Amino acid sequence: MTKPSNGATTEPYYLPVGQEIQIFEQCHASNLALMLKGPTGCGKTRFVEHMAWRLKRPLITVSCHDDLSASDLIGRFLVRFDGTQWQDGPLTRAVREGAICYLDEIVEARQDTVVVLHPLTDHRRLLPIDKTGELIEAAPGFQLVVSYNPGYQRLLKDLKPSTRQRFVALDFTFPATEQEAAIVQREGRADHALAQALVALAQRVRALQDRGLAEVPSTRLLIAAARLAASGVEVREACYTAIVSPLSDDESLVGAMRDLVDATF
Ligand code: ADP
Repeated sequence: MTKPSNGATTEPYYLPVGQEIQIFEQCHASNLALMLKGPTGCGKTRFVEHMAWRLKRPLITVSCHDDLSASDLIGRFLVRFDGTQWQDGPLTRAVREGAICYLDEIVEARQDTVVVLHPLTDHRRLLPIDKTGELIEAAPGFQLVVSYNPGYQRLLKDLKPSTRQRFVALDFTFPATEQEAAIVQREGRADHALAQALVALAQRVRALQDRGLAEVPSTRLLIAAARLAASGVEVREACYTAIVSPLSDDESLVGAMRDLVDATF
């Protein structure tokens, strides 16, 4: 669930698609919490990894899920043979270390868990730990970043307005054609022609959203297809496996996507 401070020494590759780097830097300097909104696989996590490297801050990532409790974030007493010992959770560690704390898919977490973030997002930047009676002020450099996929389970789950209003929101979409091709080429170890063809295919498949395709192909899926093709899998087979099959079980949608693959390659 938690990825510890990564302290990346080499630059995580990130191709900017707009003003996001400057905005992140400004938010970091101004102690503003940030929400990255956008579909899955469009580069949000990579962007945060890149920014942590750029700002020279440790990064602590938590993948949220519906069982995630406030204690999972803040910490808990562990029972040991010689008594109990407090152990900081990932949020507390980030607050003490002045790390960037990235809560991926925040909407998955329960509302009572999300509420513990509130005092950290206002000017006080405090984390109260009820169980130990501590009140921790966030160390310089601490920043809260959350990701949120607006299309996903919208009707079932959403963030409370009182939570949303605590964040500056950056909208992410899939990169423009040439940028996405450059990313697929580099990350998928593909040649330029294959990367361009995969992006063209993705754009056609993304148009099927109007016909009921719930999740459209992300840049991540294109990279997976490119890697399979680069490793010797026949390109159409690579697309069926990495793009078509993960997206739907519906026969007519699968058929329509396979037709698009066959028309592209
Ligand atoms: P998300 O967090 O939005 O679900 P990721 O950050 O995991 O998506 O992106 C999936 C993959 O797509 C990344 O591992 C990276 O290879 C690639 N990617 C997407 N957008 C970019 C970008 N702008 N620059 C570099 N790589 C990108």
